[in-house]
Amino acid sequence: MAPAKIRVIIVGAGIVGASLAFHFARRGAAVHMVEGSAAGSGVTSRAFGWVNIINIVPGPANYRLVQEALAEYARLQTDLPAVFAAARPGSLFWLASAAETEAFAAAHRMAGTDVELVDAATIAAWEPNLREPPACAIFSPRDLALDPAKLARDLIDAAGVTATFGRKVESLILSGNTISGVRLADDGVIEADLVILAAGTAVDHLTENLGFRTGVEASPSIILRYNCAEPVLNRILRGPGLEIRQSADNRLHVAKGYIDDHEENMPERVGQRILKIMHERLRLPEGVSLVEAAAGYRPFFSDGMPRLGFLPGVEGAYAAVGHPGVILAPVLGRLAADHVLEGRRSTLIPPAGLI
Ligand SMILES: Cc1cc2nc3c(=O)[nH]c(=O)nc-3n(C[C@H](O)[C@H](O)[C@H](O)COP(=O)(O)OP(=O)(O)OC[C@H]3O[C@@H](n4cnc5c(N)ncnc54)[C@H](O)[C@@H]3O)c2cc1C
Repeated sequence: MAPAKIRVIIVGAGIVGASLAFHFARRGAAVHMVEGSAAGSGVTSRAFGWVNIINIVPGPANYRLVQEALAEYARLQTDLPAVFAAARPGSLFWLASAAETEAFAAAHRMAGTDVELVDAATIAAWEPNLREPPACAIFSPRDLALDPAKLARDLIDAAGVTATFGRKVESLILSGNTISGVRLADDGVIEADLVILAAGTAVDHLTENLGFRTGVEASPSIILRYNCAEPVLNRILRGPGLEIRQSADNRLHVAKGYIDDHEENMPERVGQRILKIMHERLRLPEGVSLVEAAAGYRPFFSDGMPRLGFLPGVEGAYAAVGHPGVILAPVLGRLAADHVLEGRRSTLIPPAGLI
């Protein structure tokens, strides 16, 4: 008789939970996802969708993890080519001066990342709608731009798991020292051998009654989306004051990383201000207009690393959360499956209180 499949509940169907569902189901677990809203509707729906290494500073521990994350994306693209059909590869990145850009490219190369320096003439040929190309930029060929919410839905579909959407988990059920499942807010119960918390910034609400907190913080950032009638950009562009990409439907997407308290509450005002900057920097067609402006709260830890591991003090509960979640989701899914299903814990992510 075949051994019984491990029954895993995944709480949260953002990009991280979706990737975990995919990896666990592919490796033989019986997965049940529980999501309070819809798949990909948390902060994943507000993400810019840039899977990149070039915006990561070489050196700190998360750099190795992001290198591994890009390798995992390459494997996923081979595995699910149709899912990535609309993804756009390649970014151009530059800093305030050519000297700073060159030094940053050199640091990436030293850290083992394959990047190329391109000059103003090349940039102008590649991106003819950039009004004033910088003297040089870093071309990062393996970066990708994609729709993270769609990727979350596609991974869940590809996983073929059981899913309960629109029902919130109220608490984990503790039987003695073991978690035996989850209690839903409407009083339903789902049983499992393991509960994985992929609830983003909400993770500590679920661990609190077990006497453990991951220490996740909610870090705000603004997403701006603009209708645009024509193709304008070929790659993701990241220069001082502007991070922009265009999707296959011609929509322009901008992420505004830093916001002060003043702007956090007024995303539309930020969107109109950025539209002026876009017109200054880019040749845009008539009628580009703001269609979405919203703050999103990223699950962030002060050491810049994600959290992945079993909760201490109980049996049967696991946490998977951290930033940058879109970049890291596939690698977190694989590492969690290695850990839970094969007992191999990755040295890429320090335990930070987890087991
Ligand atoms: C403007 C902006 C731009 C960004 N750009 C990028 C980028 O380019 N690249 C990148 O890597 N990252 C980016 N991020 C960060 C990225 O969005 C997050 O790191 C990532 O989406 C986190 O995914 P998650 O699955 O952990 O969280 P979420 O997407 O928030 O998913 C958690 C899910 O858990 C559910 N949930 C919570 N509590 C419960 C409960 N009790 N019961 C049931 N369900 C529950 C929620 O409804 C939610 O759907 C950006 C973020 C913002 C705001």
